[in-house]
Amino acid sequence: MARAIPLVFMILLGGCDDATAPQPPPMSPCVQMAAAGDLPLFDAHFHWISPASDAYSAEDLLSRMDQGGACRSITSSTPNERTLELLALAPERVVPALRLYRTEDDKFQWSERTDMREFIAQGLGEAEFAALGEFHLFQEARMDSPGVQALVEAAGSSGLDLLAHVEPSHIDFFFGAMPQVRIFWDHGGFQTPAQLEPYLARYPSLWVDLAGRNEDVAPGGTLDPAWADLIARYPDRFLVGSDPFTVELATNYVWVLETIRHWVAQLPPDVAARVAYQNGESQYPWRPVP
Ligand SMILES: [Zn+2]
Repeated sequence: MARAIPLVFMILLGGCDDATAPQPPPMSPCVQMAAAGDLPLFDAHFHWISPASDAYSAEDLLSRMDQGGACRSITSSTPNERTLELLALAPERVVPALRLYRTEDDKFQWSERTDMREFIAQGLGEAEFAALGEFHLFQEARMDSPGVQALVEAAGSSGLDLLAHVEPSHIDFFFGAMPQVRIFWDHGGFQTPAQLEPYLARYPSLWVDLAGRNEDVAPGGTLDPAWADLIARYPDRFLVGSDPFTVELATNYVWVLETIRHWVAQLPPDVAARVAYQNGESQYPWRPVP
């Protein structure tokens, strides 16, 4: 898509500062893109994961965000240093989340690790993270495991949001343990609209990220009526995301964003804008970088 403002170049080149010239009011990259006439996407599920994205540099990824019209992203990476690298390069566009993994193998074993308390504390000491996750819990996970207990403690004391790739029972567990927590349910737990509706009704601080759900929400590119109806009833509770966790998805990042934009644009315009970027912006308000 045509970009009026190649943001990555603005960031990389910096401004030619003229102290006497009137400065425009600081504006979120999402608002800038929307003002240029495009539908920006707040990518609520972005990764820079080794080895899937080893071929890409931070500059490559930001350039792809520009190409695909992703104005900001909630980013979690393996290892976490990669998120910090992206954050340093584009602090106005990266909402950093602390992933709980040293390597991707931890996806299946982090909850049984006995060093999670230290791992999380050390990670949180390295940057101002906005959330904990993405973390995965599968059907057989134990909620009294040392890793889950460390996560609950960390979320409780830090007040950070959870980016949770989990089963419905885990959502019930976390809200039971921490009624005040905010949870972004990755992929909507791969639930159907009928299964999601009671969760959205029961938990006002539950948001649904629809990364990886394009073929469910819009089979063949056409928005499914049941999804359209649920999103219209909870227009402030849905976000979109790309989830580039494989080589293929990282390579096809721009295409993934176009696929998302295609179905989002079939929603009523005010709902489309909320799902595309306004919900992300309202939950993670943009601040000018000092
Ligand atoms: Zn993911």
